[in-house]
Amino acid sequence: MRLSVLGPPGSGKSTQARRISEVCGLAHIYPGELLRLEAQSDSPLARRIREYLDAGQLVPSDIVFYLVEREITHSFDRFVLDGFPRTMTQVLELEFLLSKRNAKLNALILLEVSRNEIMRRLLARGRPDDTQDIIERRIDIFRRETDAVIQFYRQAGILSVVDGEGTPDSVTRRILSALGIESAPPIIHVKETKNTKHISP
Ligand code: AMP
Repeated sequence: MRLSVLGPPGSGKSTQARRISEVCGLAHIYPGELLRLEAQSDSPLARRIREYLDAGQLVPSDIVFYLVEREITHSFDRFVLDGFPRTMTQVLELEFLLSKRNAKLNALILLEVSRNEIMRRLLARGRPDDTQDIIERRIDIFRRETDAVIQFYRQAGILSVVDGEGTPDSVTRRILSALGIESAPPIIHVKETKNTKHISP
C-alpha cells in the first residue's frame, strides 16, 4: 500500500501518518522531519534548508526529493508519505519515480481542519516555526501550492477528504474507514510517542 497524508499545518497529519504507518505496517516518510534533521548539521545545504524552515516557506523540491527518494526506494511497496507531494513539481517527481516500476499511489488522505482550530493547536505546540505570523504564512502557502495537488489526485480518483477535528482516535478511525480497513487490528497497540496520546479501546 502506498499512501500520502496531506493537511494544513496543525491538521494532525504527522500524528495520523505515524499511527497509520504503525497500524498498517508501512514506512513513515516524513520530509518535514528529514529536513529538520538535515538542517542540524553545519553544511551549506543545512544552512540553506534552515533559511526556508525558519521563514515557514517550502524548501525547494530538488532538496526535498533528494531526501525523500531514497526512503521511497527502500520501502517501495509499503509507505505513507507525510506532507508530500506538496507542489505539482513534487507530484511529477513522485509519479515519474513510481511509473518507472509501474506503480501508483493507492490513496491520498486530506485532513480538513478549520483555521481557528489550527491556530489553537499550533500556538499550544510551540515549535520554532509556530509563531502566529509564520503559521499564517504556512497556511496560505499550503492553500496556494497544494490546491493543484489535491485537484490532481481528486481527478485521479484516489482522494479521500477526512474531517481532522475531534480526538486523535476518532480521526484515525475515520482514515482507516476511508481506506476500507475497518477490520484492522485494534489501534490500542499503537506505540506511545511524544505526539501520540494514550488511545482508549
Ligand atoms: P511539516 O512538519 O510537514 O509541517 O513541515 C515543516 C516545514 O518543512 C514546512 O514548513 C516546509 O518548510 C518544509 N517541508 C516539509 N515538507 C515539504 C515539502 N513536501 N516540500 C517543501 N517543503 C517541505
